[in-house]
Amino acid sequence: MKVNEKIKYEFSLAFAQQLDEKDPLSKYREQFYFPQHEGKNVIYFTGNSLGLQPKSTAKYIQQELDDWAKYGVEGHFNAKNPWYSYHEQFAEPLAKIVGAKPHEVVVMNQLTVNLHLLMVSFYRPSKNRYKIICEAKAFPSDQYALESQVKHYGHSPDIAIIEAKPRLGEYTLRTEDIIALIKEHSDDLALVMMGGVNYYTGQAFEMDKITAAAHKAGAFAGFDLAHAAGNLKLKLNEWNVDFACWCSYKYLNSGPGGVSGIYVNEKHAMNKNIPRFAGWWGHNKEVRFKMEKGFDPIPTAEGWQISNAPVISMAAHKAAIDMFNEVGMDALCEKRDKLTGYLEFIIDTINEEKGGKALEIITPRDKKHRGAQLSIIAHGQGKDLFNRLMAKGVVPDWREPNVIRLAPVPFYNSFEDMYRFGEILKAEL
Ligand SMILES: *Cc1c(COP(=O)(O)O)cnc(C)c1O
Repeated sequence: MKVNEKIKYEFSLAFAQQLDEKDPLSKYREQFYFPQHEGKNVIYFTGNSLGLQPKSTAKYIQQELDDWAKYGVEGHFNAKNPWYSYHEQFAEPLAKIVGAKPHEVVVMNQLTVNLHLLMVSFYRPSKNRYKIICEAKAFPSDQYALESQVKHYGHSPDIAIIEAKPRLGEYTLRTEDIIALIKEHSDDLALVMMGGVNYYTGQAFEMDKITAAAHKAGAFAGFDLAHAAGNLKLKLNEWNVDFACWCSYKYLNSGPGGVSGIYVNEKHAMNKNIPRFAGWWGHNKEVRFKMEKGFDPIPTAEGWQISNAPVISMAAHKAAIDMFNEVGMDALCEKRDKLTGYLEFIIDTINEEKGGKALEIITPRDKKHRGAQLSIIAHGQGKDLFNRLMAKGVVPDWREPNVIRLAPVPFYNSFEDMYRFGEILKAEL
């Protein structure tokens, strides 16, 4: 079935089960652990917060524990997957996931830390060029990171941080408005730094167009892909994005607080003169253990590494990345659109049954502008709706005052999940 084909959905168990039967990815559901509610799998909608645990993760971690027990320090070279070069295994598969070249990506640290480290390189404000454009209602950690960066250089966040806001009465941003804002500030703009997918509305931004506009204005373009990596079909290199970072514990299923990934466009990665905060793991590998003075950065994204790799955390990441490598983003995105489309249909159907004013989807209707998330305003409902859904074995996400975020994840959610959720929602509204 083509992605753009309009599917005629039905709100029935038989129909949902039929979609599951035809789903080439349905077998992956069994490869994850689901939290249980009254002896049954919960209907898990928070894979955009913490992806479920693959059943293979324990084996990957155990391998490293065994090698640590067996070899001690020698495991750096003698382990089955030598720790010295453990992170190098991610370059190829991760490059595929984010649409980069292998030497443009590396796995290191945590997300907000990496955002800061990349801003050291790509936010270097001068007296005349110091502004940052970001989306209004960016994830709080990103807001704090931007604010503290701006202050660090002696600028005022009120003046230096420009937020792109939706028009009055709208929930999501128009690309044309973002581009107009970039143009308006082009004289003193240093950086455009946005999410790839906004965590609140689920809107996927047009990163190619935003990057082109930033470059035209003489600014760098960077993206926080926390809600985009493993969710959208990304083409960071083709879009000419300067830098990006993401966490691995949301759609990438690599466990709480898991290691983060970064992308640095090759034209920057190969430039050893770009300022950065350095550590031994970013240093020329040939002479790393000579322990000599004078930092010589690796001319790839690896040149941004500071510390040696957290192997136990990376083992969990590897379990998940191997699954992504097996399935591929194309298949995941195809199912994502069908599954999200089915959930959308069910919510619309219930809304109509309830008179048309109970549920409002604020995520873009066009699947080109969203991933696996629908954000819904439950008009006239408070948090007790959320509590009732939780009591029925649904795990959604609640944002005050009345937004429900639902992420149907193609790796492990089923069409039957969507149907069952619909039944519960209808009863609890
Ligand atoms: C989840 C998320 C974070 C979390 O940051 P950590 O450093 O991993 O704690 C930051 N930014 C965005 C946009 C997120 O979605």
